[in-house]
Amino acid sequence: MDDSRAMNIFSCLDRAADRFPDRTGTYRGTEAVASFAAIRCRALALAGALAARWPAGERVAIVSENDPDLVPLLFGLWGAGLAAVPVNAKLHPREVAAIVADSGAVAVMASPALATALAGADLDEPLPPLWTIGSEAYGALFAGAPAGRAATVDPDAVAWLFYTSGTTGRSKGAMLSHRNLLAMATAHLADLDDPDEGTCLVHAAPMSHGSGLYMLPYMARGAAQVVPASSGFDAGEFLDLCDGHRGCAAFLAPTMVQRIRREAETRGRAPRHLRSVTYGGGPMYVEELKKAQAVFGPVFSQLYGQGEAPMTITGMSRRDHADAPDAVLGSVGWVRSGVEMRVVGEDGLPLPVDGIGEVVCRGDVVMLGYWRNPEATAGALRDGWLYTGDVGSLDATGCLTLRDRSKDVVISGGTNIYPREVEEVLLTHPAVDEVCVIGTPDPDWGEVVVAFVVPAPGAAPSPAELDAHCLTQLARFKRPKAYRFVPDLPKSSYGKVLKRELRTRCAAEPA
Ligand code: AMP
Repeated sequence: MDDSRAMNIFSCLDRAADRFPDRTGTYRGTEAVASFAAIRCRALALAGALAARWPAGERVAIVSENDPDLVPLLFGLWGAGLAAVPVNAKLHPREVAAIVADSGAVAVMASPALATALAGADLDEPLPPLWTIGSEAYGALFAGAPAGRAATVDPDAVAWLFYTSGTTGRSKGAMLSHRNLLAMATAHLADLDDPDEGTCLVHAAPMSHGSGLYMLPYMARGAAQVVPASSGFDAGEFLDLCDGHRGCAAFLAPTMVQRIRREAETRGRAPRHLRSVTYGGGPMYVEELKKAQAVFGPVFSQLYGQGEAPMTITGMSRRDHADAPDAVLGSVGWVRSGVEMRVVGEDGLPLPVDGIGEVVCRGDVVMLGYWRNPEATAGALRDGWLYTGDVGSLDATGCLTLRDRSKDVVISGGTNIYPREVEEVLLTHPAVDEVCVIGTPDPDWGEVVVAFVVPAPGAAPSPAELDAHCLTQLARFKRPKAYRFVPDLPKSSYGKVLKRELRTRCAAEPA
């Protein structure tokens, strides 16, 4: 490789360790774990041990709940020129094994609980060698002499094999290169947040997904990485951490925002140091956003992205949220720095203002392709553009409003109905807490709209009442033909509502 092109996202850790060697880089709860210098030392020791075992380019899977030691582990892999395959800790061992097998990982690094679950599971395919994080054998990987510096790698070398959350079927590994991740980190700092060494990132969401990706921009600015002591998400614990640490930032899925908002309301106050919340990964409804802003103040920014263009297609800064009209609050904002984005018709040509079509984008943040899946890659990457599968429209200012995933659009009597629009209206009814709208097959209409409604605590809305409410704001043909009242909505471990499961439920028990 031409060394002048070399790159390694390890540079984010180098920046922090060079400038702030003695500052605490990782915390478990409020307890300091390691300084930036110590994290770099640990990562380089691991890099030395791994580089002696495997050539650059091999993959290593990480199966763990959130843990401060994932920071030196990830940087150690990158330091050795290896690719990390972070796996969602909440998956079934068989699903984990399928991802590990698909990735061709040479090793699995697993937390004690998940290592035990994997070792005891009845798996179709054998696992590669498994290291238990924290074990003696794992500790030995950090005991040798540190590598002098991180390996130089091609900017297009895979750094993170990001398995899509699979709400739409078998998960695929999006190949994210060092260049992709640096573009993501830079765009986050340019568009959405401005951390410094006096701030921190609280990992309330899984580090195997968005929160872990965001480690990079915060690390580059010398912000500490705070991992909740519970290793997971608990609204009360999150608020306590934002009392205990200064300058807190977090990436939260919209459902997590709702939970911490309710918890803060119960406490009767916002935490002292919640500085910045970037939400995204799924729709944030206008009603919820307003309630959250009323409780937490102007701390919110939004990202719209996907595993294939990590965290970075469009966004809305904190300033964009201030006094924004509902149309903007319900949008996903404007194109991000370093990204080009269009809304195109079926012929791939850009649509005029307000035309509804598929969102496509290109730029340094777009993945290299899907791992060992040329067919899926050819479907997603066409003429240099990433076809996101999301349907939306652009207004005259370039503000993107997402309608739905193309496959979630309900086609009833030949007309497109966007579930999100119906959901937004239902959520303005005081007796509705959460809602999810899907289409189910119907002999007359092709599909009809069905709303799954979680009533607000103590409320028992009737279908007639909700119907009347819809009619005040929606065209008659868009209103649900059936309501199903449920205590909660099925969600993936990343907080996305599993529409697939609701469709199966409808098929199993027709109304
Ligand atoms: P994943 O690759 O699992 O992160 O899922 C990405 C998908 O989540 C996108 O293609 C969108 O459908 C959805 N998504 C991401 N961010 C947002 C957002 N801010 N608002 C609405 N949907 C979003």
